[in-house]
Amino acid sequence: MLEKFERYPLTFGPSPIEKLERLSAHLGGGVELYAKREDCNSGLAFGGNKIRKLEYIVPDAIASGADTLVTIGGVQSNHTRQVAAVAAKIGMKCRLVQESWVPFQDAVYDRVGNILMSRVMGAEIELVDEGFDIGIRKSWEAALQDVKDKGGNPYPIPAGASVHKYGGLGFVGFAEEVRAQEAELGFSFDYIVVCTVTGSTHAGMVVGFAKDDRQKHVIGIDASGTPEQTHAQVLDIAQKTAALIELDRDITAEDVVLKTEYAYPEYGVPSDETNDAIRMSARLEGMMTDPVYEGKSMQGMIDLVRTDFFPSGSKVLYAHLGGVPAINAYSYIYRNG
Ligand SMILES: *Cc1c(COP(=O)(O)O)cnc(C)c1O
Repeated sequence: MLEKFERYPLTFGPSPIEKLERLSAHLGGGVELYAKREDCNSGLAFGGNKIRKLEYIVPDAIASGADTLVTIGGVQSNHTRQVAAVAAKIGMKCRLVQESWVPFQDAVYDRVGNILMSRVMGAEIELVDEGFDIGIRKSWEAALQDVKDKGGNPYPIPAGASVHKYGGLGFVGFAEEVRAQEAELGFSFDYIVVCTVTGSTHAGMVVGFAKDDRQKHVIGIDASGTPEQTHAQVLDIAQKTAALIELDRDITAEDVVLKTEYAYPEYGVPSDETNDAIRMSARLEGMMTDPVYEGKSMQGMIDLVRTDFFPSGSKVLYAHLGGVPAINAYSYIYRNG
């Protein structure tokens, strides 16, 4: 589906799929859970889902003649850390706008985890006191102008690399990769569970899995807390990506399945149930998840198993999108485990 698009390799290759044997058994054994480990997909500063998206964006950045990647996220953004790593790898400068998207205070919230790594990798970081919004932000546009004013040549990457013309391609590739792995495994997955916030991960999967009519079995777990805006953005990106790759079918609102009941209390703040899910997968599988994204999709998947959303015998693939570095900024919550 992606033959005509240039890809700059930044990952190790296909990310591994492993069975979550003990977690499946703990939840009754009626559903078989697997994880596709996008959190182990690259050696670039711990990797994650944005690296896969950036493989299709970097060729455009290089072709544009840019010398600085400019992007935006929250203080503990995984996306900005991955852009900083990619900039280092391809020899560009990096300018990051980090907004106060999360009303959470830990003594070292803006010192550890993702932002620490971005600083070490040489990114220029500007902290801005604005709240959560997945849309286009003034602070980001101002940073682009500032790079130009100082004689640089900026390349704009929006939040989560999502509303970029090539933002959806990486996860179309994810679906192709899963199909190849299914052929090797000798079975197919009935459902794919994915955490959704800025939308292009879910959108790319919807387009990629539409090829074998599985798009409605991609179960998005909203972690934004603004699900209407997120649903609309996923649909928009999916439709644009489908047009871009000349998919031979239309994508409609019903193709975007988004579960909205797990994002509480709000973006970036884990509930007690999120923390229970993080501990459960850590203690049964040694698989770490974070309090902002994957802890919530893990919580959602566990709840969907417990409430019999997946028919007995289903094989469910949990897309582990990365993000564990952020847990360092929540040290007080986990001080006793
Ligand atoms: C960015 C991110 C997501 C959400 O992906 P979107 O494409 O923004 O919807 C989920 N999990 C982790 C760990 C992320 O960094």
